[in-house]
Amino acid sequence: MNATPAAFVERFGWPPEVVAEAPGRVNLIGEHTDYNCGFVLPIAIPQKTRVELARRNDQHVRVVSALGAAEFDLGAEQRTGQWSDYVAGVTATLRLHGFVLGGFDLRIDSDVPPGSGLSSSAALEVALLRALRGAFHLSLSDGALAKLAQEGENDFVGAPVGMMDPMAVMFADPRTAIFLDARSGFYERVALPPDLDFVVIDSGEKHLIVGGGFRERRAQCERAASLLGVRSLRELDLTNLGDVARLPRPLDRRARHVVTENARVLRALNALEMRDDRAFGKLLDESHASMRDDLEVSTPAIDQLVGIAQRDDTVYGARLTGGGFGGSIVAATARGAAAEAGTRILRAYSALGHSGTLLVPEVSANGGRA
Ligand code: ADP
Ligand code: MG
Repeated sequence: MNATPAAFVERFGWPPEVVAEAPGRVNLIGEHTDYNCGFVLPIAIPQKTRVELARRNDQHVRVVSALGAAEFDLGAEQRTGQWSDYVAGVTATLRLHGFVLGGFDLRIDSDVPPGSGLSSSAALEVALLRALRGAFHLSLSDGALAKLAQEGENDFVGAPVGMMDPMAVMFADPRTAIFLDARSGFYERVALPPDLDFVVIDSGEKHLIVGGGFRERRAQCERAASLLGVRSLRELDLTNLGDVARLPRPLDRRARHVVTENARVLRALNALEMRDDRAFGKLLDESHASMRDDLEVSTPAIDQLVGIAQRDDTVYGARLTGGGFGGSIVAATARGAAAEAGTRILRAYSALGHSGTLLVPEVSANGGRA
């Protein structure tokens, strides 16, 4: 990432006034549960999105990112289907809630890979909202800011995501998970046990949240809840699996994933508290099997990658992370073993003809820890 404002000056002819950032996140466990009012347990990753912003004297917005350049006027935001919708979604949503903005120039710089299940979208939204809050003196709490990020992505971009991502990038850090109850909005920060580490590998298969698969899973979960007569699948627990099994296919399996996944998040939280790394890892393995077989959001390449990780001697457990249909995997290892395990797993994955990227831990070119 370019830490100097030189690129901004070169592009816009003046320096930025405000700089803000937000990290990507990796969800340890609790997948497709947030929009079902359930539990999630993400941590932040070291990769971040950073924005530089300077106010203008008009209502115009100019924005540049590695993905291209875009311009629009405040009050005339239109969905285009392009990446700039994530910026226009933020300004349109702020204005909808009565916040007064002026025009601005914006430069986005990020090392969170987009479409890899690591929430580059929320990292961008939260970084931008933080910059706008500073530049235009918006009276906005962190929690309210996270809600606005989700609202912009749902209503303007048209991606039916839950609240995990903005909450994670706002409140988690790489050694502190957040346990979030999406029904009440209650969350707590959970320090990771010192002897646990994580490997995150991007499979190289890109997903699109605005694409059909995620939306269809959400609709199926909502249909399952309505057939079972509950407001959300969160209202059910393991004692209800008999009723769940009587749903028509594939709603039975979709609902079974959500009910068992919520139970796994609670058990994972307990395993972290008890410092039982093996129990924690086993829950990651079980979560993957459920995402593969019941939710059906994995892919053959990701199943291979997860399988390689699960067979590694230093790995406690591994799973697909994020919404699925591509994206990244997360594996739990002993502290200090992650860099070597990640390199080994990636090598075996490459030998099968795939091209993945080791993202966590950050490893420098000479093989050491960055
Ligand atoms: P994820 O959040 O898992 O990375 P999404 O599909 O939710 O995947 O969001 C990815 C989209 O967010 C990208 O396709 C792009 O439109 C937008 N985006 C993310 N990061 C950036 C960036 N640095 N610059 C411009 N747009 C970005
Ligand atoms: Mg996203």
